[in-house]
Amino acid sequence: MSEKINLLIFKRDLRIEDNRTLRKCFEESEKFIPVFIFNPEIFESKNDVRLSFIAEAIRRIREKMKVYVFLGTDQEILEKILQKYRISKVFTSLPLTISGKNRNNKIKELLDRRGVDFVEVFDNVLCDFRKLPYKKVYTHFYNEWKENLDLYIGKDYEYNLKVVEDEEFDNLTQKVLDRFLINRITKWSYDFGFRRLEEYDFSKYSELRNDLGEDYSSKLSPYIRFGIISIRKIYSVSFDKSESFVKELAWREFWYHISYNFPEIRQTEFQENKRSIAWENNEDFMEAFFEARTGYPIIDAAIVQLKQENWMHNRARLIVGSFLTKDLLVNWRIGEKFFSEHLLDYDESINIGNWQWIASVGPDPKPIRIFNPIIQAQKFDPHANYIKKYLPELSKIEPHKLHDPIKYSIPYYTPIVIHSERIEKIKRAYGIGV
Ligand SMILES: Cc1cc2nc3c(=O)[nH]c(=O)nc-3n(C[C@H](O)[C@H](O)[C@H](O)COP(=O)(O)OP(=O)(O)OC[C@H]3O[C@@H](n4cnc5c(N)ncnc54)[C@H](O)[C@@H]3O)c2cc1C
Repeated sequence: MSEKINLLIFKRDLRIEDNRTLRKCFEESEKFIPVFIFNPEIFESKNDVRLSFIAEAIRRIREKMKVYVFLGTDQEILEKILQKYRISKVFTSLPLTISGKNRNNKIKELLDRRGVDFVEVFDNVLCDFRKLPYKKVYTHFYNEWKENLDLYIGKDYEYNLKVVEDEEFDNLTQKVLDRFLINRITKWSYDFGFRRLEEYDFSKYSELRNDLGEDYSSKLSPYIRFGIISIRKIYSVSFDKSESFVKELAWREFWYHISYNFPEIRQTEFQENKRSIAWENNEDFMEAFFEARTGYPIIDAAIVQLKQENWMHNRARLIVGSFLTKDLLVNWRIGEKFFSEHLLDYDESINIGNWQWIASVGPDPKPIRIFNPIIQAQKFDPHANYIKKYLPELSKIEPHKLHDPIKYSIPYYTPIVIHSERIEKIKRAYGIGV
């Protein structure tokens, strides 16, 4: 009992390599207990693919270092651990989202009551966006961001040497992991991310990233989201090959910067003059959209991709986001929630930021962007490979007909709206002169 034992709570930093919280905890502890808490408040659905993705990442960490896994609220689990051990300090990474911040605040309250120190370590980003002057326009943010990068990758220790052995916790861990590993997803295996990082040709990113047919974006988002691969590692292998890729990494941190400076973004439109748009929220339109039967093959293919793969190509996210909020005049919050239920890479700050951006209510100097789903399909899926992959029933139809279901009649659902006929209505709803 005289030993100084600390606790480490893993969050969105599910890795051993280049993990600043783990390193700091190791350096300041004689012994420590690394834990991950599956919190039912966060993961409501038992079949959520994120649960098995996380469980697999932890299983792989455990091949090198013991991590104890618990199922329960933070309060329940922390009480249990504090009852068994005299813990001096609790280490965890500093949250990047508002929900994460609220979660840590509750943990801190509990620890304060018990006289335990709480240490939040800033990690999982390339720049301390909190310290930059508040920028509401991405390009201004990027100029500051790229001058203030913190790219130091420190050395790793033999972390396992200081981990407390606990048989009871170990048995419990096995049970929880077994439960979640049943639904393991094959497409997004743990190794896929590491292989992708090694094999991906970043020098082609700028030219091909928007191409829906051949999927040329990095597909690293789930591994970045859960911190399975260090963001500094990703930067170190890409920065000299593609500035355009680095700019996307900066977009990620732009949204954290915005959430940090304007936490109201979770509920409120960033642009004040867009807070009273009269959304139509037509139930039939929404149903057709969620069930991939809008009659626009490019939209429906994207929704099928989301449901089948728990991921959607960025260009497709933009096309469907514009279609839902502009063509259908559905509140962006509904699209945001739908994505949050399906995306493996779902991140509160990034999803809300992007939905507000594509709905033209977020931080964007342009008053409105309306994507034409026909032109988008022609431009980014010229051979209709993407459409045909996710809607194989259309595989025999020529691409130009699939791109433009208004002009050509195809054996498919009738388009629920005619894009060109909606423009005036959209502009009126947005208060833009027509
Ligand atoms: C409506 C909408 C919702 C989105 N929701 C999410 C979300 O919940 N989680 C999420 O990680 N991304 C989200 N994005 C951003 C983007 O679509 C994904 O990050 C990207 O498609 C992931 O694929 P990739 O790893 O191949 O990206 P790449 O193009 O290879 O980019 C590399 C990395 O940069 C970051 N990045 C790229 N684009 C963006 C962007 N627009 N905003 C912030 N970061 C970006 C991601 O971490 C990504 O993995 C959303 C975009 C839109 C339009």
